[in-house]
Amino acid sequence: AGLASLTVMLIGRQEPEAVGGTARIIALSVAAVTLPQVFFARHLSRNAARAGAVTVGFLLGGISILGALKHTAFLVALLPLLIIGVPLFSATYTYVADLRHGGRAVSVQQRVRNLDVLLLHQGYSRRQVVALFLAGSAYLCLLALLLVTLIEVSFLVKTVILVVALVGGAAGFYVVLRLLPREQPRRAGFLDHVSQTPAAPGGIETPPYAEEVRLLGVRLHAVTYQGALAAVEQFLREDRPHMIVTADASAVMRAQDDAEYREIVSEADLVTADGAGVVLASRLLDLPLHDKVSGCDLVADLCALASRLGRSVYFLGAAPGVAEEAAAKLAERVPGLQVAGCHHGYFDEEEEQRIVAEIKRKRPGLLLVAMGIPRQEKWIKAHLEDLRVPVCIGVGGSLDVISGRKPRAPAWMQRCGLEWLYRTIREPRRLPRLAALPWIVWRTFAELLRR
Ligand code: UDP
Repeated sequence: AGLASLTVMLIGRQEPEAVGGTARIIALSVAAVTLPQVFFARHLSRNAARAGAVTVGFLLGGISILGALKHTAFLVALLPLLIIGVPLFSATYTYVADLRHGGRAVSVQQRVRNLDVLLLHQGYSRRQVVALFLAGSAYLCLLALLLVTLIEVSFLVKTVILVVALVGGAAGFYVVLRLLPREQPRRAGFLDHVSQTPAAPGGIETPPYAEEVRLLGVRLHAVTYQGALAAVEQFLREDRPHMIVTADASAVMRAQDDAEYREIVSEADLVTADGAGVVLASRLLDLPLHDKVSGCDLVADLCALASRLGRSVYFLGAAPGVAEEAAAKLAERVPGLQVAGCHHGYFDEEEEQRIVAEIKRKRPGLLLVAMGIPRQEKWIKAHLEDLRVPVCIGVGGSLDVISGRKPRAPAWMQRCGLEWLYRTIREPRRLPRLAALPWIVWRTFAELLRR
C-alpha cells in the first residue's frame, strides 16, 4: 500500500492531469502512514494490513478510472493492475491453483491460502516472503512509472515493453524464489527428481543418511555439513575403504564428457556439493541439496574426527613442502593429530609405488589427496582397494590454503558464493576453468525449461 501510494504520487507529478492535487495529497498521506510500518510489521495486525491494502486498491482504481475518462491512454487504466499487482496475484494464485485441481480437490482452508501463506509452508522465512513481496511491488511500481514517462510513445511500443517486462519479471521472480535458501528442509512431495538408484556394482551401498540426487546427470548426496561429518565418522569405524568426492561446477562439467570420471563419481561413497555453482543450480532445479560441503572446510574437521577416533592422517599432493606445512598448521589446531606421512603430488611411477607402499605400511585412517580434479579422484580410485584406507578424499587446492601459501577468499566472498572469482583474480591461469560457470547456468536453465 505504501509503495503503491508513493507511486501514485510520483505519477501525479509526471502527469498532473491523470492524478489531481487532492488525490496526490491522499496518496502521500497513505504512503507516510504505511511505509514506516514496514519497520514495525511485527505489531501490525493482519486485518489492518488487509483493510489498508483493499482501501488503497479502491483508491487507485477510482483514480485510474477518473484518469482514464480524461486520458484515453490505456495505460492509466492499467496502472492499478500494475500497482496492486503483487497482492492481486497473491490472492488470485489460490483460485488458479484451485482450477488446476479441477475445482474440487481444494478444501476451504486451502482456498484461503494466499501466495504468502503458501511460501511460508514451503519453508521460506517471513523475512524472505516480506522482502519478495516488497521487491515484486517495487518492480511493478517502477514499471508503472516508466510507462507513464513514456506516455507519448506509440501504443505498440508501450504494449511490447509492458508484456516483456511482465513476463521477464515473472520469470525473474520465479528464479529468485528458487535460488533463495529455505529454512526448513523440503518435504518429500517436492523431491520428485530424486532418483532411487540401486546400489552400485561392487557392493557399494547408498549411505543411509543421505538421499541421492542427480544434477545434470551427476550423482550427488544431499547431505548437510554435519551429515557429511557423521557419514565420515561411520566410514572411519568401518573396515572397508571409502571414497569421498567434493564436486564443484567444474567436476559436474567434467563428468559430462569424461566417462571414467563420471563412473568414479557415481561409485563414490559420498559425493558432496562443493561450491556456489552446484548449490545454486540444485536450488534452481528444486533438488534437496541443503548445504555447500567443500573440501577446504572439511579438512580440519576430518582431521579432528580421525584424531578423536585414534586414527592417523596421510597428506598427499601439492607442491613439495606444502603437505608438510599444512600438516604442521593443522597439528596446531587439532590436538593429538597423528600425521602418518606427507608427500608432494608430483611423482613418477617408481616414486608412486614407494608412496603406495608407505601408505599401506602406516595404515592411516584418513588419506587427503590434493592433486586437483580429476587427477586426485582417478588416483584414489586406482589405489582404493590396494591401500585399504577407510576414508580417502580429494581436496584439490586445500593444502595450499591451509599451509598459508595461498590465501583463502574473505569470509564475505565465501558467503556470497564468490570464492571462484577471488581465486581467478589471484591466479589468472584458472581463467579457462571459469567456462564451467556459464555452462552450468545454461544447462540448468535448459533443464528447467525442458521440465
Ligand atoms: N597438483 C599436484 N599434482 C599434479 C597437479 C596438481 O599435486 O600433478 C596440486 C597442485 O599443486 C595444487 C592442487 O593439486 O595444490 C590443485 O589445486 P587446484 O586449485 O587446481 O584444485 P581444485 O580444487 O580446483 O581441483
